[in-house]
Amino acid sequence: MFDVMIIGGGVAGLAASLFTAKAGLTTVVFDNDVSQALKVHAIHNYLGIPEISGAELLHRYREQVSAVGVQLRNETVVAWEHVKPYFRVTTEAESYDCKYLVIATNLNTQPLTDFGFDVVVNQKVPSGKIRMVEGLGPEGQTHIPGLYIAGLLSGAASQAIIAAGQGASVGVDIATKAAGKSYMWHD
Ligand SMILES: Cc1cc2nc3c(=O)[nH]c(=O)nc-3n(C[C@H](O)[C@H](O)[C@H](O)COP(=O)(O)OP(=O)(O)OC[C@H]3O[C@@H](n4cnc5c(N)ncnc54)[C@H](O)[C@@H]3O)c2cc1C
Repeated sequence: MFDVMIIGGGVAGLAASLFTAKAGLTTVVFDNDVSQALKVHAIHNYLGIPEISGAELLHRYREQVSAVGVQLRNETVVAWEHVKPYFRVTTEAESYDCKYLVIATNLNTQPLTDFGFDVVVNQKVPSGKIRMVEGLGPEGQTHIPGLYIAGLLSGAASQAIIAAGQGASVGVDIATKAAGKSYMWHD
């Protein structure tokens, strides 16, 4: 049993994991390496880093979250279900249970439709290819307790820094719920 499982280790999912793991919650991220960030040769609008490739940005994220204890699994999740009060995800290798589940799968909207969410076009992304769930707050909490949505699927605009910030918000909200009091991590 994990405290937190995150399907999708792109920008948003990894940002969420940093905060949940730092808060002491056992956290695993499943990813199958098709982050949109990997298509970006050079990002120039990530504040504090004047130029970086998407691949290098994700590499740095992975190193940073690993250092606080996040387990990174290079596995495709093929099924997800609410086995109340927990969540279960199944990969090609195994099934895992958790208390908090984050969907951060971006182009892959199957988890959302399987959990019963209506998806609409994310109008903040001009291509029209990105879907989202309407009506979420910035923390990505859905009407199902413990189930969160992170990244562009939550309605975030298309920039990586925004997806990361929203993912961080998800992580802090989970840490707050788990602790029963506002979670603050300031060094
Ligand atoms: C061509 C292009 C250029 C861009 N240029 C810029 C730019 O210059 N600046 C900028 O700020 N942003 C840019 N972006 C946008 C940026 O890439 C996105 O904002 C960011 O990647 C969104 O983060 P995310 O976490 O929501 O999704 P993603 O980063 O796409 O992550 C989703 C993750 O979910 C995983 N996943 C999905 N389904 C499963 C499953 N079943 N099992 C396991 N894992 C799964 C995928 O492998 C993927 O890693 C660009 C995007 C594109 C496509």
